[in-house]
Amino acid sequence: MDADTQQRILDAVDAGFEAQLATTSDFVAIPSTRGAEGPCQDMIGDLLCERGYEVDDWHIDVDDLKDLRGFGPIEHDFSKARTVVGTYRPTSNGGKSLILQGHCDVVPAGPLDLWETPPFSPVIKDGKMYGRGACDMKSGTIGALYALDAIRAAGLKPTARIHFQSVIEEESTGVGALSTLQRGYRADACFIPEPTNGKMVRSQVGVIWFRLKVRGYPVHVAHAGSGSNAIMAAYHLIQALQKLEIEWNERAKQDRHFKTLNHPINFNPGIIKGGDWASSVPAWCEVDCRIAVLPGWSVADHQKEILACVSAAARNHGFLANNPPEVEWSGFLSEGYELTNSAAPEAAFGKAFNAVYGGAAEDLVFTALTDTRFYGLNYDIPSLCFGATGAEMHGFNEYVDLESLKKSTKATALFIAEWCGVEKG
Ligand SMILES: [Zn+2]
Repeated sequence: MDADTQQRILDAVDAGFEAQLATTSDFVAIPSTRGAEGPCQDMIGDLLCERGYEVDDWHIDVDDLKDLRGFGPIEHDFSKARTVVGTYRPTSNGGKSLILQGHCDVVPAGPLDLWETPPFSPVIKDGKMYGRGACDMKSGTIGALYALDAIRAAGLKPTARIHFQSVIEEESTGVGALSTLQRGYRADACFIPEPTNGKMVRSQVGVIWFRLKVRGYPVHVAHAGSGSNAIMAAYHLIQALQKLEIEWNERAKQDRHFKTLNHPINFNPGIIKGGDWASSVPAWCEVDCRIAVLPGWSVADHQKEILACVSAAARNHGFLANNPPEVEWSGFLSEGYELTNSAAPEAAFGKAFNAVYGGAAEDLVFTALTDTRFYGLNYDIPSLCFGATGAEMHGFNEYVDLESLKKSTKATALFIAEWCGVEKG
């Protein structure tokens, strides 16, 4: 790509940025927590239609996915679950095809009084956009759409097939991304604009979700000693799992990327429910947990270790020894992913990055997961993850930095042009 073409694309991103922010704000305003992503998918479908993409909008059938690598069990009503893909087909086929993917699901906002401004009323202040999903990752998804717009506004069109994919379930199972692959979408590379602080995700963890179901023996609290408290028993199991976390972090020191981090494996009891009454010894407690695994670690083997850890702890407990807790797999059963076979797209991206930021992108060793794993592991499609800077993802007062968003949109646009090739529109 010559310098003039490059400059026209960069100028087009600048010229479109105000509109990009307005669309991002509308997108962030939709409270698309798990199961409520429909209006986001409607909006993306409309945006793609307006732009003349061929739109495929379908209901996800879990039965089609349940035997595929990386599937995680779905527990809630999935009858309204949809994926939306917009396809661009080139008139002449010169370059390499590309999948651009974003997830529109967001995690719950948490206690509203912790937010300075309401999570689903996006606000721009001091060069930042605040709102749940502003950072993770609605600004990235809309950024990729406007990156494509910028190429068009520069009087160019890509010379390779592009699929723009909006998925759900990234925060819980990943089956949204999996559904696009099951539907048959493939490309020479995939690019996911998650907020990576301007770095390239080199290696990322996998995640296992599970639920501890713990029984107790209910009695009046006046005679607490004659019963067994399920909530306290759940704490006993949590403490055992914290020891497992230490063990796995020890093991992580063998990993060539993760050995550089202090504590890559994080165990989190994320939801706890139990009991019915303050003066009754609780008969039940359920704890939803998350723990990470590293690339190359077998999910099945690590599920077995979790079961063994819980069983051993139960055997050391007066009541649980005879009333063993259950473990349910409640979402992610995801492998870690290390970016490999990616020299070609990385070279194209390197040029784009250098033009915008100067120099080479730093690597990021990521202690969370992204959807890239499905492309890389299931179909050997090199899958890059790169995006803007922001903070407080999954926390309160989440924001994306707008200057970084403009830059990452520029890098995305140049990467698309470089990888797919462009010709006069
Ligand atoms: Zn995300």
